[in-house]
Amino acid sequence: MSAIETGSMSSTATENVSATATNHMSAMDRLVAEAVTLANTSGFLVSKQGNANLTHTSFALTPARVRRSEFALAVKLANLLNTLTMDVAANHDYLRKTLAQTAAGDPDFTGRLLSILGDDPRPKAATIEFSINRYDFFPGASTRADAPPSERGLRMVEMNCIAAGGIAQGGLMSDVHRQLLAHPAAAAAGISADPSALPPNEVLADGANAFAAAHKHFCTMYQKASWPPVRLVMIVIAPYVNACDQDMLRWRLWREHGLDCVRLTLKEILEHGSLLEDGALCISGCKGIPAFVVSVAYFRCAYSPAQYPTETEWRARALLERSCAVSCPSVAMQLVGTKRVQQALGEPGVLERLCRNAEDAALIRSCFVRQYALHADRAGGAAAKLARERPDDFVLKPQREGGGNNLYREELRQAIEEMDAEERGGFVLMERIYPAVAGGVMVRGGKWTTADIVAELGIFGSVIRVKNKELENKIIGHSMKSKLSTVDDGGIDAGVAVYDSPQLF
Ligand code: ADP
Ligand code: MG
Repeated sequence: MSAIETGSMSSTATENVSATATNHMSAMDRLVAEAVTLANTSGFLVSKQGNANLTHTSFALTPARVRRSEFALAVKLANLLNTLTMDVAANHDYLRKTLAQTAAGDPDFTGRLLSILGDDPRPKAATIEFSINRYDFFPGASTRADAPPSERGLRMVEMNCIAAGGIAQGGLMSDVHRQLLAHPAAAAAGISADPSALPPNEVLADGANAFAAAHKHFCTMYQKASWPPVRLVMIVIAPYVNACDQDMLRWRLWREHGLDCVRLTLKEILEHGSLLEDGALCISGCKGIPAFVVSVAYFRCAYSPAQYPTETEWRARALLERSCAVSCPSVAMQLVGTKRVQQALGEPGVLERLCRNAEDAALIRSCFVRQYALHADRAGGAAAKLARERPDDFVLKPQREGGGNNLYREELRQAIEEMDAEERGGFVLMERIYPAVAGGVMVRGGKWTTADIVAELGIFGSVIRVKNKELENKIIGHSMKSKLSTVDDGGIDAGVAVYDSPQLF
């Protein structure tokens, strides 16, 4: 399929299409209309301004084909990466050393996070570490655009160690696809799929279980009879974006676990928070909520400098980090997710040294593509030269999250030309990956378009360590996004990608 067909819930076929095409168009219109009603009534929604103006989330009408073996590999890798990321997060010396030059190139963000890590006087081994990470892969991919299917496989795009979106909506997408494909409207539009080809995806339920478990560990380890009640908090920004994905998790925690998870901004944390003598973070006088102690602080923001507009936000982050509240993620884990650490992990011998055994290291390495540091040294200079000469073959990545930050092609070349060597050190250079391209239908605002799309598979892992002992290392589900094959970058929130789900073959 190419980008030729479009439609909307109300569209009628134009005069010059044949009767068969007309039937197909109206069957597609009906299917899309039903898909939208299903999305709306399932809570598969997005809000642009606070909780107002809810509309259905953009999604792919049918699931994306992913090889069964690649899906299984992604799941296996996610378990290994859960362990690896936790090991690296506990290794502050490694983080400081690896990020020193990156911090010099990006002093206002990576540098500041690193300095909070530097302040941390607690031995991490005495605490609870909890993270929900999402590991993103391109299935059917290669670093060669023209590679035949036999030379394609799973390639890792990156690890998200903070604020990974899709914990509710990734699962809703799977539910919507499963119900939709079984509906007569799908058959009428000539669309079918074997339900067993859609892997189970209980990401919301299992994600909530992980938060409940972290909360319980906190209570067991720290809670005192003299304390006010204990609650979880979700750290968000105002105005509130991606609210449905976040609030669904909060409501799940309440419904299934009786746990109140309060949304707060970093500013509110600083204004209303104080440390009790034992290190507990107590929030009082906020939003009419009686005073409470924070068990888990789940960050759904705090991954870009814009989310720390003043010193208040930085002080709040440091306060959370100093308290015994379980930050999901800790500053250390957030730093593990920096592009620089991900690049450094791929350097010769590093995985082999940091992984538990050679087999794990080899498996992880099998899905890595080449990445280069751009430090102010000879190797960095050589990488910069490579980028200038072959900008189409690489992606230039700053230490940012959330999509839309990377540079490609001519922009990449120009940026490299213009940066001084120190500034360049804040970026990494990654080989360009070419994923499998397939025809698909994207649904946005009730309208549909057919297009050539590429799909990216995110596997969610949860990991809990108490006193450095791994008590939980789980795969909680997955989330997928698809975008036009011609678009370089951009996430779902940026309006570029749409939700999708895998269909195994
Ligand atoms: P962020 O943390 O901002 O989301 P990512 O590394 O995930 O940054 O990149 C954002 C998007 O850019 C990805 O979802 C993917 O579509 C694209 N991308 C990232 N790395 C590559 C790569 N090496 N080759 C091709 N596309 C890439
Ligand atoms: Mg990311």
